[in-house]
Amino acid sequence: MSQAKQTDLNRRALLRHGGLLLAVVGAAAVIPAQADDDMLSKATVHYQSMPHGAQHCSDCAYFIPGNDAAAVGNCRLVAGVIDPNGWCERFSS
Ligand code: SF4
Repeated sequence: MSQAKQTDLNRRALLRHGGLLLAVVGAAAVIPAQADDDMLSKATVHYQSMPHGAQHCSDCAYFIPGNDAAAVGNCRLVAGVIDPNGWCERFSS
């Protein structure tokens, strides 16, 4: 086999494997979105719409704020709308 033909085959193999790598990376990017579907229910974490002592959702590491400090937001763990003054047993500062 000539050197030029071998180089062409190597280039094609590299492109093929590069495409496979991109497919794997693309699939990995989709996995976190699927994990969001496995959110905990408010009942499971004993969510309440009022603070628990000094702890409240707006100070929690999992809270995703709404448009302003008083607006309802979301949570990275718990499904549904979350009150910034709420709390659940998964609270983390
Ligand atoms: S984990 Fe619990 S306390 Fe923290 S933001 Fe979510 S619902 Fe609120």
